[in-house]
Amino acid sequence: MRALRYWFDSNLQQHDNYAEQAGIDWLRIIPFIGLHLGCLAVFWVGVSTVAVAIAVGLYLLRMFAITAFYHRYFAHKSFKTSRPVQFLFAFIGASATQRGPLWWAAHHRQHHRHADQHRDPHSPKQGFIWSHMGWFLSRKHFRADLSLVPELTRFPELRWLDRFDIAVPVLLAVILYMTGEGLAAWQPALNTSGWQLVTWGYFISTVVLIHATLLINSLAHRIGSRRYQTQDDSRNNFWLALLTLGEGWHNNHHYHAASARQGFYWWEIDISYYLLWCMQKLGLIWDVRSISKQKRDARAFRRESVQ
Ligand SMILES: [Zn+2]
Ligand SMILES: [Zn+2]
Repeated sequence: MRALRYWFDSNLQQHDNYAEQAGIDWLRIIPFIGLHLGCLAVFWVGVSTVAVAIAVGLYLLRMFAITAFYHRYFAHKSFKTSRPVQFLFAFIGASATQRGPLWWAAHHRQHHRHADQHRDPHSPKQGFIWSHMGWFLSRKHFRADLSLVPELTRFPELRWLDRFDIAVPVLLAVILYMTGEGLAAWQPALNTSGWQLVTWGYFISTVVLIHATLLINSLAHRIGSRRYQTQDDSRNNFWLALLTLGEGWHNNHHYHAASARQGFYWWEIDISYYLLWCMQKLGLIWDVRSISKQKRDARAFRRESVQ
């Protein structure tokens, strides 16, 4: 892994000690490898239309829970909602196997406070692989600094999701297995099974989901354009925005992190925001924060005039 990190990032030498001191934790790595190995079961269980549809559906649902709630709501407070809706999406987000909402939000707030500085948990300046996945596989980041999320620790149900972060993923796998076995018994024409739905709906869907999310920490600080001259290396990247339902407008986001909308212009596709807009119309969320037209345009135009 060390050699790979060097290969990806020539700047690594100056930050070399950071990753080494953080300590890669094999107890965290083994389940993470297991998650990937689980995908190989596809060679035994095969594929069916229903299995792929469930994998895609769960990817989209959980990506929305991660982007709109774990990120924009829990980490950035970009809108308000009721306690049941807060819990519902924390619960769905927890099934993405990216730890609990408190852990996620605390690390993300640390990222914004120190973006691409030494105390950033996952800057690509410390190596591309480190920024992608080394950081959360390390002992240093196993526990979150919960003093960064004081308003969230008030909720026992959120603390529970954080404490037992494996519970919801296991529940999802069990539900998928039972659904698959049920369909195999009652709808054999669908050509599915319990293990097939677990493989596609949990393992494959989750691994793709995790890496798509992680690309925002790694690639979105490396590849793309910079509309705003922020203090960090964040980029806007159309392809990452498609993949992550809107998170690819990461330079926009670092410029004005409080905005629930990350695609600042109509052509910047931000599917999570469109869904949040619908939820607002339905009265499920409110006080949705945005960016003023003046702030949005001022820096962009200033940059263009400099060039
Ligand atoms: Zn960032
Ligand atoms: Zn953020």
